[in-house]
Amino acid sequence: RLILGIESSCDDTGAAVISSHGRVLGEALAGQADLHAPWGGVVPSLAREAHQAAIDRVVEDTLVSAGKGMQDLDAVAVTVGPGLSMCLKVGVVKARGLAAKHGLPLVKVHHMEAHALVSRLHAPVPFPFLCLLVSGGHNLLLLAHGVGNYTLLGTTVDDAMGEAFDKVARLLGLDLKPNGGAALEKFARKGDPNRFKFTVPLRQQANCNFSFAGLKTAISIAIQKEGLQVPSAAAAAGGASLDSEAASKPAPDDGVAGGAVSPAAAAAATADGASAAGGTAAALTPTPAADGGAEKQSAAESSQPSPSQPSMDVTADADGSKARQTRADIAASFQRVAVQHLLDRCKRGVDWARDHHPDLKRFVIAGGVACNRSVRSSFGDLAEALGLELTIPDPHFCTDNGAMVAWAGLERFNLGLFEGPPQSITDDDAYQDVKPRWPLTNISDSRGLPKS
Ligand code: ATP
Ligand code: FE
Repeated sequence: RLILGIESSCDDTGAAVISSHGRVLGEALAGQADLHAPWGGVVPSLAREAHQAAIDRVVEDTLVSAGKGMQDLDAVAVTVGPGLSMCLKVGVVKARGLAAKHGLPLVKVHHMEAHALVSRLHAPVPFPFLCLLVSGGHNLLLLAHGVGNYTLLGTTVDDAMGEAFDKVARLLGLDLKPNGGAALEKFARKGDPNRFKFTVPLRQQANCNFSFAGLKTAISIAIQKEGLQVPSAAAAAGGASLDSEAASKPAPDDGVAGGAVSPAAAAAATADGASAAGGTAAALTPTPAADGGAEKQSAAESSQPSPSQPSMDVTADADGSKARQTRADIAASFQRVAVQHLLDRCKRGVDWARDHHPDLKRFVIAGGVACNRSVRSSFGDLAEALGLELTIPDPHFCTDNGAMVAWAGLERFNLGLFEGPPQSITDDDAYQDVKPRWPLTNISDSRGLPKS
């Protein structure tokens, strides 16, 4: 069996063709880091334009690199949510068009399930497993019982860890390419992780939830205390209102792709529930929206972005070696505490899960933050200490990509969780499929497994 997977939920246009044995026959990815860097976050309207400009080529390149034509395929899988609705729509329109034209079944994929299931692409990871999903818009600790069947143990009460990395990278004036998290990890290698004793979040709370807003505020205060010049773009994009932002974050586990901001002003941002939900723009006072509906979408679309001052790479030389070292020490200390927080909460989760499922043996980490070497090695140690088998996908498959969608699509396809070829390919029909806010623990409502 061969499946084409298409991803466009945030700022990566991705596609891949995989075989039923999990071989990635061909793939392509068009990122948008350069496009969004000056804005301090993903601008939905620009992201949609970039997806539209890239999608045909990405699919074409994927098929060419796989050496396959559409006639060789058995199904088309596409991310339908959660994410930015105007971005999701681009992928869904493309997928529906291809499936209709070639008479292929359509598999609707949950983006976070794709992050989780890609762990099974190259390694045998039987259910059940404990799963930590850490990305730009989500911080979920789940017990995975089967495809479409997850128990939520913990989620973030404010920001996701990837979002926090992106914000702190901006506060420290780093060049945000390929993304804030990777930039911060690299910069932190030069720092002393024990110089700043930031408080590990939520230690008093007997649950498995996560929180990163307080830690981010502590970073902001440390930067000020040390008399470091806060780059203006960072101040505009992440520094000024960390607390209000955290307070206004909507309910967990239905957030959208993180790092997404509406351009320039709070007014535009609040009009777009989808982008505000995972927003990182400091000026945002997001209105938690039930979903990213069509009217809200178009309000944001009509606003004209105007970038705050571009992010500058002050790490280069501008502020002298002592200040630069302090910045690196802050970065390293932040990373140490953030990773410690993950470890704390997951230890609790393991205890809980083992009480209820004594046979639990496996732990999976996925999502963009799972690229982080400190995360990978710390969890390697933890898993060893707890006697768990740890699986972390190759970094290439941790950040958004087409193969994870194709693989999740294949898993669902094999269980009969697909629709017949679309009869209609109007944009309105495609829009019906898009689910900007879609809790992972509630995915059995869309051609999913019966609840069990
Ligand atoms: P979601 O999956 O929640 O919808 P997303 O798709 O935008 O959000 P991913 O593509 O899975 O998120 O991951 C991107 C996030 O991962 C970014 O926030 C980025 O900063 C973070 N990230 C990537 N590499 C690293 C790293 N090495 N260390 C820490 N964070 C990282
Ligand atoms: Fe993602």
